[in-house]
Amino acid sequence: MRQVDHFIAGDSPAANRKHKIWNPSTGEVQAEVPLGGAALLDQAVTAAKKVQPEWAATNPQRRARVMFKFKELVEAHKQELAELLASEHGKVVEDAHGDVQRGLEVIEYACGIPQALKGEYTQGAGPGIDVYSMRQPLGIGAGITPFNFPAMIPMWMFGMAIAAGNAFILKPSERDPSVPVRLAELFLEAGAPEGLLQVVHGDKEMVDAILDHPDIPAISFVGSSDIAQYIYSRGTANAKRVQAFGGAKNHGIVMPDADLDQVVGDLAGAAFGSAGERCMALPVVVPVGEDTAERLREKLIPAINALRVGVSTDAEAHYGPVVTPEHKARVEQWIDTAEKEGAEVVIDGRGFTLQGHENGFFVGPTLLDRVTPDMESYKEEIFGPVLQIVRAKDFEEAVRLPSEHQYGNGVAIFTRNGHAAREFASRVNVGMVGINVPIPVPVSYHSFGGWKRSGFGDIDQYGMEGLKFWTKAKKVTQRWPDGGGDGSNAFVIPTMG
Ligand code: NAD
Repeated sequence: MRQVDHFIAGDSPAANRKHKIWNPSTGEVQAEVPLGGAALLDQAVTAAKKVQPEWAATNPQRRARVMFKFKELVEAHKQELAELLASEHGKVVEDAHGDVQRGLEVIEYACGIPQALKGEYTQGAGPGIDVYSMRQPLGIGAGITPFNFPAMIPMWMFGMAIAAGNAFILKPSERDPSVPVRLAELFLEAGAPEGLLQVVHGDKEMVDAILDHPDIPAISFVGSSDIAQYIYSRGTANAKRVQAFGGAKNHGIVMPDADLDQVVGDLAGAAFGSAGERCMALPVVVPVGEDTAERLREKLIPAINALRVGVSTDAEAHYGPVVTPEHKARVEQWIDTAEKEGAEVVIDGRGFTLQGHENGFFVGPTLLDRVTPDMESYKEEIFGPVLQIVRAKDFEEAVRLPSEHQYGNGVAIFTRNGHAAREFASRVNVGMVGINVPIPVPVSYHSFGGWKRSGFGDIDQYGMEGLKFWTKAKKVTQRWPDGGGDGSNAFVIPTMG
């Protein structure tokens, strides 16, 4: 059986514990990954400490060259990466290309690190006094990532952290760990010193070792909310800088004047693409007014029935299997719960099998209507190909629903009315807003981050926010006296007056 190894400087020790990696399309175990702990992490930290000071002292233009080379290598290996990713995750290959591409866009941004790191300078802030600031790396950064974007999210993190002068240790999801390892191999090939980017595999044991390691000052986490909150609490209790992004339940508000044909196409992709396993999926649609709800439902039903579910290599498939058999069972249980709570199961994806691939972890597309805010199936994240209709009586209720939900990652409004869109964007209590854009993941030179239980900590991923997260600001106040002194009283707090 194929063995996925850690990617660390030096030899990795033999593993006591291993985790199986499925092929979700066939339902077979295709590989194994070792689960490491504190000793392995120590080995990686020791190697990172050796190379990081020299990397930080390498001028930013040279660091950018490694990023450029890495970008070229990832592009050259894109098809291979997308196929490997799809085989472990289950998303279709074309969608896996998008996973790689959205990560690469942050690498492209990181290529501009010389410009981004230019500090601020004030000449003559006081008599003969200048003030300047610089951003310096933290040392060793760590990233703990989820299964659903095994290329994009690691690149979001290590792209910014390493360009800024840090070494980086990545702990990817144990469910699809091969692509993160391939990325680290390509990074080495791009000219990075050995030990600068390392990949350690593991579960809670490894995560706890990262959270407690005294030589790791900053941790970026993306995953489910309870674990995000745990990471944030334990990491900050250990005086680390932590950003921890959690789950989501994004709403799509459909105003009566929206172009429903466009909305249905957008919703089908945003709710069912990647089998709904995206933190920026749109699993809740909120039509405003009964008439909008009826018209939307009438158009949604045939569109959802026409979706093609297939193996990840099926170029015609709209989406593939979910990631594990446990996850398939969980999604189906949520549909059971919704039904028991009184939701109307309009299209039922439970018990779906794909001919020729009966053991794959497929869930058929599901549409639930008359879902209400008191239902558990509304309050919690399902993370599957399930679209819930929650009918709102008016605009005010449509603003309130996502604003009062425990998650606040993304939200979208579909309308032709600029005033309604503007009001909505300014008032809704959610971190990322789309206006006629179903999946509003900001481009790499802005930043990414949800609110409420979707994001713990103060600083977003990537863009200038990412750069801030992975650096600390140093402020220098300088004076070059001409020998005469300035006559001020040294016992009084200095002012620039
Ligand atoms: P997960 O929380 O199960 O795992 C995330 C990481 O945490 C993995 O590396 C895993 O090994 C580790 N982990 C798992 N259990 C742990 C424990 N008990 N203690 C410490 N570490 C543990 O998440 P997942 O299922 O891999 O990913 C899906 C989740 O991630 C969804 O909730 C989704 O919404 C969320 N997500 C959020 C964003 C965002 O930006 N907000 C982006 C992508 C995914």
